[in-house]
Amino acid sequence: TFKAFLVSQIDNKNYQTNIVEKVVDDLPQGDVLIRVEYSSLNYKDALSAKGNPGVTKKFPHVPGIDAAGRVVISKSAQFQANDSVIVTGFDLGMDTWGGFAEYIRVPAEWVVSLPDGMSLRESMIFGTAGFTAALCIDALQQNNITPDRGEVLVTGATGGVGSIAISILAKLGYAVVAVTGKESQYDYLKFLGASSIISREEVNDNSGKPLLKERWAGVVDTVGGNTLATLIETTKHSGCVTACGLVGGAELITTVYPFILRGVRLIGIDSVQCPIATRSTLWKKLASDWKPSHLERVVTTVNLEELREKVNAILQGKIVGRVLVDLSRK
Ligand code: NAP
Repeated sequence: TFKAFLVSQIDNKNYQTNIVEKVVDDLPQGDVLIRVEYSSLNYKDALSAKGNPGVTKKFPHVPGIDAAGRVVISKSAQFQANDSVIVTGFDLGMDTWGGFAEYIRVPAEWVVSLPDGMSLRESMIFGTAGFTAALCIDALQQNNITPDRGEVLVTGATGGVGSIAISILAKLGYAVVAVTGKESQYDYLKFLGASSIISREEVNDNSGKPLLKERWAGVVDTVGGNTLATLIETTKHSGCVTACGLVGGAELITTVYPFILRGVRLIGIDSVQCPIATRSTLWKKLASDWKPSHLERVVTTVNLEELREKVNAILQGKIVGRVLVDLSRK
């Protein structure tokens, strides 16, 4: 038997979580059986644990959109027993039992080899949040946002995507403006490499003006809603806004003016269905040139039991950095 963080439905609205014992036969069919050493907590896992039907429809369920570990059995010639591998996104932790357990079984197409220069633990300090930050930064680079173009702004700065995005951007030589609601975390953000820090209110405009003063060359936005609208309206001519999140709202109300008068580019970021070739390329960058030297500073390590309170904290926007799930932690 192995341990799993199981979410069960009690009634229409209520769900409960328990740490239970499961057997490998309880796992879905798949090509690759993996012994999970590390997982991590992402915002979406918390939505799944609360029964959000946009994430998970079938209960009982094991969340965890991230997993890293060693192959136990592989029906695919691509992987052999004992290979170190990473699985993030696709259906993992959504309607396929995920990384909050000691084993997962998944299709070979979801599996990426752990790149040289990265440990399993480091891969899950990044996890989907770090990989998404990498996708955003890759999109900025593809849209010619080089450090000399001006400041790059990151919202949800103390969160998972935000913390890693700031760390990588600073390492690559960008001047980074961090947006946070946590005044107590200014030292943390400076330590990660933010060159300046502003409040959430400063990027939440309610004037109704379609264009505001040009400020940012690039944006990594995890918040959405009126914040995203404000950021589009304050981005410099030919600048690029990457939109990956919705912690502040899913709607987007703005006008076409930033696009047709300033040539602002809005790029959508999706880590879930991201093609395997892009995954391999970006994981290799995260293992080398893009790897922040201070990864340990962003991480809090928990076991499955300790994970439960973190699930509530992430929904309340209270997490700082990344929550690493260590399956061997007592
Ligand atoms: P997280 O660790 O909880 O970080 C989110 C941060 O946003 C919080 O720490 C907080 O930072 C800020 N925040 C929270 N509530 C807010 C509000 N109401 N208004 C403004 N700011 C608020 O979550 P995460 O894992 O980094 O994920 C961030 C977002 O990206 C989520 O919406 C997630 O679903 C999305 N995401 C998308 C993809 C994709 O593939 N598109 C992949 C990963 C994540 P401060 O206190 O510092 O402001």
